[in-house]
Amino acid sequence: MQVKILLCNCKGICPSFKDTDMDTLLFDLENELGAEYVILHPMLCGQGGNKVLLDVLKSASPDTVFVVGACDPEGQRKLFKRVLREAQFDESRFIPVEIRYTDNAGVLERLRQAIQQLSPQAVS
Ligand code: SF4
Repeated sequence: MQVKILLCNCKGICPSFKDTDMDTLLFDLENELGAEYVILHPMLCGQGGNKVLLDVLKSASPDTVFVVGACDPEGQRKLFKRVLREAQFDESRFIPVEIRYTDNAGVLERLRQAIQQLSPQAVS
């Protein structure tokens, strides 16, 4: 299983992200979680963000799982439904995680738990 992490911080102006430092978070997540990569888009649900998402989903290998840190999981499922369908991407390999209202340590822990649920051996 390959894990790729996509993050969205709601244009960087939403107060729900005021305690996260995106300049250091991405590197820390790659280091700690053994992800293939971590990328940040400021508005994954916008036009450009949807196109980035479509590209990465369409080019993913069959064993790739995307862990998507952004707004609440139900909201993400609605926002990204069309892109997932267009990419013909298996929704079971798309894991939305809420990363708002916390700090870098909190984001790390939430994503770690999501990955551990997929594969307990994936991260310690
Ligand atoms: S995907 Fe969610 S967190 Fe990102 S810009 Fe859209 S509403 Fe905000």
